[in-house]
Amino acid sequence: MVRLAVIPGDGISSEVVPEAVKTLEAASEIYEYSLEYETFDFGVERYLRTGQAVPDDFDDFIRSLPDKFDAALFGAGGTDPRVPTGISAQPVLHGLRRGLDLYANVRPSRLLSDDLTPLKGKTSDDIDFVVIRENTEGYESGTAGNFKVGTPDEVEIRPEYNTRKGVSRILEFAFEHTQRLGRTNLAMAEKGLPDGLWSRTFADVSARYPDIEARHVHVDTLAYLIVTAPETLSVIVAENRAGDILSDLGGAIQGSRGLAYSGCFNPEHEFAYFEPVHGTAPDIVGRGIANPIASIMAARMMLEFRGHQQAADAIEQAVRAAISTGAVTRDLGGRNSTAQVGDAVREALRNPNR
Ligand code: NAD
Ligand code: MN
Repeated sequence: MVRLAVIPGDGISSEVVPEAVKTLEAASEIYEYSLEYETFDFGVERYLRTGQAVPDDFDDFIRSLPDKFDAALFGAGGTDPRVPTGISAQPVLHGLRRGLDLYANVRPSRLLSDDLTPLKGKTSDDIDFVVIRENTEGYESGTAGNFKVGTPDEVEIRPEYNTRKGVSRILEFAFEHTQRLGRTNLAMAEKGLPDGLWSRTFADVSARYPDIEARHVHVDTLAYLIVTAPETLSVIVAENRAGDILSDLGGAIQGSRGLAYSGCFNPEHEFAYFEPVHGTAPDIVGRGIANPIASIMAARMMLEFRGHQQAADAIEQAVRAAISTGAVTRDLGGRNSTAQVGDAVREALRNPNR
């Protein structure tokens, strides 16, 4: 059984996340799991209805999630011109990441079909790496502040927090993940002090994994390698901001931001959450043309996490089949709607050999 908290969020999330849920339901009719889910309406729409994007007891709600659910599926949170700045479903994201301490954000970059990548001459053999992004520290500590606001002397302080505990555990997670994947190549992307906490901790942790070839690559060089030589990359571990940017680049070389997905984990917890990498896409919201594949693949990753590998594999096969028959949205050069792509995936799921 899978007990799932579905929290779509803002913008295109309410268009794409339901396609993922419908796909999970369709798969549960064919494969060996039952799905129970509850949907929560946090974000802009809730604000417009009730005056609050999230309820008063929101912190309790977040804390109680692991008791009631195995996983959460989130869409995205973002600004909306109908509401004041700052009103969005973003507290969900911070609640799940920092509140539940789900510190390891795993963002695969795998080419689903050779013709999707904008990189000349690269195939799915070349583009198959994963970015592991630290999710609870770095620049997203929520402690920025401004002084002398609005004057020419305005000062903004945006600290980046890197703790020994936080750096150690994300690096350990990355080495363990590399082993789990049966890979032997790990790159740490950072551009801090040569003898800073990340570098020293990386040297310490890598000494414990002699079978893994561990390299410290500056984040700018890594961005260059993602575009010019993705075949040399296997697992990348990075601090919060570098990981965010590199994984978006990973999305771009997969063919669209509408394809990149992720899961957030803490190996000491049984609860994890899954989300597309993209945001609320205000430029296409409400038109029914957003690509649902990132959300569907996030749901697929959730099934894999819960041990339903067969169903997860079948969903991926169905996504590949839908893409190969040209059932894709505009971002991939197609003409299909969000719902049509979702239907094509489910059709392929029900008839895998057609
Ligand atoms: P975005 O991902 O929303 O959009 C960037 C571009 O990619 C747009 O042209 C958009 O149309 C396109 N795009 C994104 N998802 C797509 C999909 N599924 N199908 C087709 N095209 C897609 O990023 P942005 O414009 O930088 O941010 C918009 C809002 O989203 C901001 O408020 C930002 O803070 C928020 N955001 C939230 C998250 C999150 O909650 N995890 C992540 C990124 C951005
Ligand atoms: Mn991003």
